[in-house]
Amino acid sequence: MDAALSSPENNPHDSPANLAQASVKCPHCGTVMPANVAFCPGCGWSMTPLPPVERAAAAAAYLTFVAGAVILFLPAFQKNRFVRFHAWQSILLWGVFLVLSGIALFLSNVAAAMVFLLFGILASLAMLFLWIVLTIKAWQGERFEVPLFGELAARLP
Ligand SMILES: [Zn+2]
Repeated sequence: MDAALSSPENNPHDSPANLAQASVKCPHCGTVMPANVAFCPGCGWSMTPLPPVERAAAAAAYLTFVAGAVILFLPAFQKNRFVRFHAWQSILLWGVFLVLSGIALFLSNVAAAMVFLLFGILASLAMLFLWIVLTIKAWQGERFEVPLFGELAARLP
């Protein structure tokens, strides 16, 4: 860690020529990118420190789709791509989880009850695990994309 920080790659960015060509290295995965990139293209790590209120809002957005929807409508975050991305991802994930839960309940009968009970427990555990991971990632300021859900969330306003 200390060796990377004091390496000669960290040129001073004070002259315009250096500024134009400046590149930074992701502290999380090591991907090299232009200095003006907000998020690491390799892992989604936030390259600029995010205010705690934004990270808290992004983390709170995962407390079910209701919290995500409320945060989407808050005027404070209308133009905040980081918070809105996490809010949309939360809504999409919770939406699919609830729809699948509803279908499982609807289809279940006495014969299939055990199968759906098992499926329901597994799905709930997976959702709990995902929720914990996403909340921590959001709080760390990381733009962590869940496959499919994240791609869709990134396109939403
Ligand atoms: Zn990275």
